[in-house]
Amino acid sequence: MILPIYLYDHPVLRQKAEPITEITPELRKLARDMLETMYAAYGIGLAGNQVGVPRQIIVVDIGKEEGMERPLVLLNPELIATSAETVDMEEGCLSLPELRESVTRPASVQVRYLDLQGQERQLEAEGLLARVLQHEIDHLQGLYFVDRLPAIRRLFLQRKLERIARGEIVPPYPVVFGPTAVAQAPKVL
Ligand SMILES: [Zn+2]
Repeated sequence: MILPIYLYDHPVLRQKAEPITEITPELRKLARDMLETMYAAYGIGLAGNQVGVPRQIIVVDIGKEEGMERPLVLLNPELIATSAETVDMEEGCLSLPELRESVTRPASVQVRYLDLQGQERQLEAEGLLARVLQHEIDHLQGLYFVDRLPAIRRLFLQRKLERIARGEIVPPYPVVFGPTAVAQAPKVL
C-alpha cells in the first residue's frame, strides 16, 4: 500500500521517533508499505516520520550500482562511528520537493540496528549508502538535511521552504501537507 508522504512543515517531521520495542505483523507491514511508497516516489530512503509514524524505522535502497542487492530495513538505527573525513554531496528529500542542496557530512559511517527478525546488526558504509543512512537517521531525530547547512545557505532557501509549507509545490506522489498549507487551502463552501 502506498502511503502519503508528509511534507515540510508538518509537526511529525520535527518529532523525535520512538524506539521500536516489538516486531509485530503491523511493523512488518509498515516496512513493506514504506518500501512501496519509496519506490513509487523514486526515492532511495524513507524514514517513519515521513509517513506520519514517528517510530525508529528507516528503509533504504540505493539500487545495484553500489552492489546492494536487496533493500535495507533498519530498526532503531544508531550511528556508532563516523569518519573524521567529510564529503560534499547533493541531497534531496521526498518531504522537501524540488529542493536539492550540497551538504557536508562524514564520508563513512558505522551503524548499529535491528533487522526485521530482531537480530542486532552492524554495517559500515561509505559513498551514497553512508549519505542516505545519515539523512534518514536525521529524520528520526526530527532533522531535515537543510538543518545541516550553514545559516547563510538556509537563509537563501527560506522562500522555497515557505512555498513548500504553503502547499504551493505539489510533488507527483500522494502527500500530507503541514498546518500552514492546510490553513491556506481554499475552503469548500
Ligand atoms: Zn528526507
